Amino acid sequence: MAMAGLALVVVLSIFLIERFDVAAADHERAIVQRGVVEVRKELDAVVATQVDWDKAIASLDNKFDPAWADFNLGNYLYTFNGFSHVYVIDGAARPIYAAANGERTTIADYAPFGPIVDRLVPQIRQAEVARGPIKPRPGKNNILIPPIQANAFAKVGDRYYVVTATLVQPDFGKSLPKGPRAPITIAAKPVDAAMLKAFSDRYLLEDTRLVGPGFASDERQQVALRGLDSTPLAALSWIPAKPGTLLRQRIQVPLLAGLLLMALLAMSVVRRGATIVQELIASEQRSKHLAYHDLLTQLPNRALLFDRLRALLAVRDTGAIALAVICVDLDRFKEVNDTLGHHAGDLLIQAVAARLRTACPDAALIARLGGDEFVILHEVTGPDVLDALPAKVIATISEQVGTEYGWLEVGCSLGVAVVDHPGVEPSEALRWADLALYRSKEAGRNRVTRFEPEMDEVLRSRLSLETDLRRAVQDGALHMVYQPQVDHAGRITGAEALLRWNHPERGAVPPGVFVPLAEETGVILALGEFVLRRVFSETHAWQRARVAINISAVQLRTQGFAALVTRLAAEAGVDPSRYEIEVTETALLGKDVQIAGNVDALKRLGFSIALDDFGTGYSSLAVLQRFAIDRIKIDRSFVSALENVGETGALVDSMLKLARAMNLGVIAEGVEAEAQKQRLVKCGCTHFQGHLTGYPLPVDAMAQLLGEAQSQLRQKRVNAGRG
Ligand code: C2E
Ligand code: MG
Ligand code: MG
Repeated sequence: MAMAGLALVVVLSIFLIERFDVAAADHERAIVQRGVVEVRKELDAVVATQVDWDKAIASLDNKFDPAWADFNLGNYLYTFNGFSHVYVIDGAARPIYAAANGERTTIADYAPFGPIVDRLVPQIRQAEVARGPIKPRPGKNNILIPPIQANAFAKVGDRYYVVTATLVQPDFGKSLPKGPRAPITIAAKPVDAAMLKAFSDRYLLEDTRLVGPGFASDERQQVALRGLDSTPLAALSWIPAKPGTLLRQRIQVPLLAGLLLMALLAMSVVRRGATIVQELIASEQRSKHLAYHDLLTQLPNRALLFDRLRALLAVRDTGAIALAVICVDLDRFKEVNDTLGHHAGDLLIQAVAARLRTACPDAALIARLGGDEFVILHEVTGPDVLDALPAKVIATISEQVGTEYGWLEVGCSLGVAVVDHPGVEPSEALRWADLALYRSKEAGRNRVTRFEPEMDEVLRSRLSLETDLRRAVQDGALHMVYQPQVDHAGRITGAEALLRWNHPERGAVPPGVFVPLAEETGVILALGEFVLRRVFSETHAWQRARVAINISAVQLRTQGFAALVTRLAAEAGVDPSRYEIEVTETALLGKDVQIAGNVDALKRLGFSIALDDFGTGYSSLAVLQRFAIDRIKIDRSFVSALENVGETGALVDSMLKLARAMNLGVIAEGVEAEAQKQRLVKCGCTHFQGHLTGYPLPVDAMAQLLGEAQSQLRQKRVNAGRG
């Protein structure tokens, strides 16, 4: 628009400038036309003053006086007004006087002017007749009559003249013409250079020339000079003033500079506008991208996944292609996040995203739902998609990832749902894959599970289990069993309190099932409080045995947990030093201030802390030191592997060395065979828990056992005393 505006300004100014010139030319031509008339009138007036005079009647009519004519006409008109030819003709049109260039000459000179004079004379005579006889007005001293004149532009010989014919008349009437027709004076003034110059100067014309009637020029203007019969005899030609052109020349440079400047300005505005538009488009695309992509991995997010899933399922509804929805969840990702921090977790997620991209075909859609959850969408084009693709995903993700935090290792669990019938909602398809994933997680790491319709059943039963668990906790329908912990000599030194739930319909539900369920659903806090109350109340009377209580990570992360334990211990009147809190390694990970606060408070109160399932999680010397752990519980996976896997012995050995070096107590759990126990004893293990040394027992049985043990001890002392 700016450019169009500029172009309009340019065109308009060119047009205006041209209009200026045209208007000026019109005006100049009118002035010249008027000027020509004016000049002829002036010449008439000059001659009139010489012949409208009583003296002229006396000297030319009454009695012809050549000397007077010489002086007042021939010489006078030539000298002062440039009339080169002057003649006088009498009443009968006969020439009686002739002068050329101020000197009297022969009458014969008159001949060339004869034809033009012959055409002027009738006009004069006509006016003379119309005037009638002159009536003098004696006593009145003013001019009687106006001059009678005729004037023509004429070509005589090869020169042009203005020819003026003037009737000789009295002015005051002292002399009157003797006959009816007075003489006529003819004066001719050549249109010569001097006359043209005077004209030029007077009307400010440039280079005025007399040109032939056929003359034409683009650069020059002209006004025709016509003869008596109106035919153009010649023309006055001059170079017209062109104010527009002059203006243009004057303003040309500044105008062009201005235009250039405006053009540059317009261009820069246009360019700036274009960049702004481009930026707008880009930012729109960016925000679109943001709305549909995950910031960390740049993978499509949940919104885009749902869009695509909906579209693909719609296509599926019309065709025969099956669609695979694969949920991927990292194993042990939380541990990395907790131990090494969120940045390490982010790096790992990015690495996993990149690996997923290489593992999946280009046609697959890979989305990140958040946390460590990913979803892959792919058409089931062959068996590869269902078998090879998941295997490849597990293989690529399981490879170690090199980061600035060292080598990280994660696994992943996969759930696959195949949608091969129409009418399935996106959320339904995802739920199926999620259910299958849940199965994989339950079964252990690096597994793939294909969704089967029964799983839906399982989920439903899980939901009902959750409801039942809540009610059971409320009703106190759970109970504790106690598993003995013994020293190398088989003496019971303590017991681990283990939770049991006898479901009215399902029977015994293992804690490995309902404890994680309680942790996921938040029931664990109420459940944990129930355990503490129950254990304290059941065991407060025990004299020597130390009681180990399992505490979930969720409890440990809860603000005020230590205070709760303190209150419950006080209410039950128990001695904290006889209780051991069992926490898993992973529960102590991370920089959660609540965890440290709770553990420190519990330690200050006198509780001891045992690290449960030692060796299976991420644990470090720093954790052992930071929390002033009292005892480690070597996980039963190491114990059971002692006999078959060669390196396990060395591993257990080093765990015990570490414990000794850090002055920690050690207990091995899951000891089932005497050989295991012997092996552990050889490594320096002092305490044992497992089926070999005692199954978990109901509280009464355990108390009885402890009583036995204690009475045995008493018996021994008695014997020793006797001895
Ligand atoms: P855990 O703390 O490692 O407990 C030891 C588990 O090993 C118990 O399983 C116990 O019965 C079992 N066990 C003991 N000796 C042997 C053996 O020789 N061979 C084998 N195969 N197993 C043995 P249980 O009672 O099923 O508990 C499983 C897990 O549930 C516990 O592992 C603990 O993490 C959790 N749990 C149990 N009671 C509670 C509780 O009151 N609170 C919390 N937060 N978690 C609990
Ligand atoms: Mg335990
Ligand atoms: Mg354990």
